[in-house]
Amino acid sequence: MKPTIITAAITLVFAGLVPAVAAADPADPELATKLSGQTVFLDPGHQGPNHSENLSRQVDDGRGGTKDCQTTGMTTVNGVPEHTITWNVAQLVKASLESLGAQVVLSRQDDSGWGGCVDERARAAGDSGATVAVSIHADSGPASERGFHLIVPQLPIPDAAADRAQSGEGRAVSQSVRDAYVQAGFSPATYAGVREGLQTRSDVAGPALTTVPLVFLEMGNGANAEDAAVLESAGGQLEHAIALTTGIVGYLLDTPVTGTDDLPAGAPARTEPDTTAPAPKTTAPKRAAPEASDSGTDLAERAAELLVPLLGALGKDQEALTSELVNLAYTLAATLFAPAR
Ligand SMILES: [Zn+2]
Repeated sequence: MKPTIITAAITLVFAGLVPAVAAADPADPELATKLSGQTVFLDPGHQGPNHSENLSRQVDDGRGGTKDCQTTGMTTVNGVPEHTITWNVAQLVKASLESLGAQVVLSRQDDSGWGGCVDERARAAGDSGATVAVSIHADSGPASERGFHLIVPQLPIPDAAADRAQSGEGRAVSQSVRDAYVQAGFSPATYAGVREGLQTRSDVAGPALTTVPLVFLEMGNGANAEDAAVLESAGGQLEHAIALTTGIVGYLLDTPVTGTDDLPAGAPARTEPDTTAPAPKTTAPKRAAPEASDSGTDLAERAAELLVPLLGALGKDQEALTSELVNLAYTLAATLFAPAR
């Protein structure tokens, strides 16, 4: 199926979903219950400025030492604070996961005030009953370098429960998010010793203190102009949110992240990622695509439904769709309905 046909299908579905948008509830009951019974703990990194806490108060680092309770986080080249970017992305991931029937617990309740020390957030993740916890950050690295990475803890971790959670399942969910980011067209970081999108660290307290499988994501490098532009924009934050949701979903359902290139004949072709592209109705297909099939149409409709709560959370309609967002939603839909491994 051609991307133009996907877009047509998505536009049609949008037109039929206006009441569903108002109810923030997908029309497809299979989608709305896909993650029923699953709880995800989302930790948007850092906190707002309106607090009187002492950030340098020392707390347990999970490795027999201590660490600052919190840090302020980075600021992008254009002056956008990390805490606001991570908050915005977390809100979108929350909207998407909840539209699929998952419960979402947040580490902080707003982007204005305090959100807890690193050890308190790790404890809250464990107490939340979540299957998986996700710490969302953006990095500040060398200005000439770019890319995302996942921080994974050096093993073994002294705490047995944290070691158990992070050694097997923690690695699995981190790799699922890595795969989703690569599939989404984000490049793994080219700095700080990152290998295939993963960076092993013994100096980050969160992973060493968290007793449920943890994703610790650095979405990009806010000191790099190109990464910063994506991190700062609503459209770019939406791309990050869909890619992250896809990785979480792949882990929760034990399905491989399935891009449009991986789909069988009859599924749509992937277009070139282009964040500057206008609405996808004007985007020519990258290559000749097979004929439309029922499964391709189903996935297009589901991709459209997946975008409804996300665009609704941004107060936007289908005019905000880009070919990249359509592809990302398609990958999310395909991953949701891929056969379990
Ligand atoms: Zn951070």
